[in-house]
Amino acid sequence: MEIIVGIDLGTTNSEIAILRDESKPEVIPVEGEMIMPSCVGIDPEGRLIVGRTAKNQMVSHPENTVLSIKRRMGENATVTLGGKSFSPEEISSFILARMKSEAEKYLGHPIAKAVITVPAYFDDAQRNATKDAGVLAGLDVVRIINEPTAAALAYEAGHEENQRILVYDLGGGTFDVSLVVVENGIVEVKASHGDTHLGGDDFDRLLIDYVTKRFKEQHGVDLKSDLRATNRLWVAVEKAKCTLSDRPFAGIREEFIVGNHHLDMEISRDDYEETIRPMLRKTMDTVHACLTDSLFLPKAIDKIILVGGATRTPLVSQMLQEDMGIEPHHEISPDLIVSMGAAIQGAAISGVKTKSILVDITPYTFGTRAVGEHEGMMTDDMFVPVIKRNSSLPVSKEELFYTYHDNQEKILVEIFQGDDPLASDNIFIGDFWIKGLSKARAGSPILLNLELDINGILKVTAKEKTTGLSKTVTMDTTKKGNVSNLEERRRNIAAFLEEDEDAGGEADAFSSDIEDKQNLIVRAKGLRKRAEGLLSTVNEEDAAELSSILEQSRHAIAAQDWETVARLNESLSDMLFYLED
Ligand code: AMP
Repeated sequence: MEIIVGIDLGTTNSEIAILRDESKPEVIPVEGEMIMPSCVGIDPEGRLIVGRTAKNQMVSHPENTVLSIKRRMGENATVTLGGKSFSPEEISSFILARMKSEAEKYLGHPIAKAVITVPAYFDDAQRNATKDAGVLAGLDVVRIINEPTAAALAYEAGHEENQRILVYDLGGGTFDVSLVVVENGIVEVKASHGDTHLGGDDFDRLLIDYVTKRFKEQHGVDLKSDLRATNRLWVAVEKAKCTLSDRPFAGIREEFIVGNHHLDMEISRDDYEETIRPMLRKTMDTVHACLTDSLFLPKAIDKIILVGGATRTPLVSQMLQEDMGIEPHHEISPDLIVSMGAAIQGAAISGVKTKSILVDITPYTFGTRAVGEHEGMMTDDMFVPVIKRNSSLPVSKEELFYTYHDNQEKILVEIFQGDDPLASDNIFIGDFWIKGLSKARAGSPILLNLELDINGILKVTAKEKTTGLSKTVTMDTTKKGNVSNLEERRRNIAAFLEEDEDAGGEADAFSSDIEDKQNLIVRAKGLRKRAEGLLSTVNEEDAAELSSILEQSRHAIAAQDWETVARLNESLSDMLFYLED
């Protein structure tokens, strides 16, 4: 059975797992560690570095290293590394490609498909950007699932009884809370709330402010005015923060942090907790909003599962226990539980019998703008919800609207996400014109259908009822540029990754003699180029065979399976000999 990997593409760290049969999910180590920093950089030799190596160069070369790219997913932004510009999904694709190649090494064969998790609160553009990152990394993303749902799936795999689970997920950059009901093996998310800009990284920021303030009082120097000092401080405070999860005090010592000044400071857990308490209070308010949405009282909750590294902060458990009256569970590692759940979902899709079935929900309301009454006044900015928040996925809803003017020839369909009564107070998702209407009198019916798929991706159809004239648009292009060039971008990224392999990037990645491998790659590239040139001229059968070898060759290089690369080179060479004749 084909293995579909599960990937937790995190803000700070990422994990990849598989489930081979009905047993437990296996988390695949990267450089010997179960978690890989979501960090990408270009080293001084111009090579691409990903994971721990990249994180290690964060202090010395912050300008050529990027962390927390997940926070920018879905934005039309670029990041410059080593003089080249990359979009957030391209940076994420390097992280995914690295994990894909580690999984291929671990399994000994190529992998093509993945389930990737996202925070429940990720919007349409962020989900699409995540899918695109997968495609750019050469992965077919068969499903995007919400992180808390994945956690509940992994937890449920080890338990038989029916229960109501609160999943509290505090990672490096995002916070999510979901109410999940498990009944007879069906995992159903009843409500989800969150904040895409709150997490352990913010605690680091608060600690940096705290230390910088004390340092200025002691030495009269602002540490933040020096980028290198700030980066050293950032690494040091994160370490101290983790220490404070286990000890009442943590020391920070950095020699010559600026000029002749040394940083030598002790921080108490009490002081640290006071600093972060307002942020944690905010997460508790979100927990209560989620409960209200799901119509459950705190006492109806059976279990609280903690997800994300930042939940190791003792104050998190303490505040949850005070608010909810239940002690949170720590049975499965909060770092690994999400990737394990994604692996279970991947296995279920590939046909492995799993105990649980997933029913996911949308945490957002989607609707359109129309003319209507708001607070006693007519407005052309009224928001009409079509798909309501917390609907189970997939969902398809249709609403009837009417043209406003006589002889109206076109209408603008605008889609928003949110719950405010005025459309302009919600998040604009996308729009399109439907033209060539039948010039009927005002009041001609227009059917608007919104369809949200299992990955939370939105398809909008507007149809003139009398003529059947209709237009369908998938709302995935508005915030992230041109999707049609995705395949071209994927090829560029593949070429970039291959170039990097040619240059010997990721030094540990090659196991046999470098020169032999370079020769193999150079020969494979040359043969592939010739073969690609022939694809449009040969008959269908030969073209299909060539395409298959080309694909296998790309996979084999990505998996560093040199024996297969050599074998495929010979096959290609044989085929070219006969086809080029
Ligand atoms: P995640 O996104 O789930 O990988 O979580 C990463 C966040 O968890 C980062 O902000 C880490 O600094 C934080 N973290 C990891 N271990 C601990 C710990 N022992 N105590 C407090 N925070 C931690």
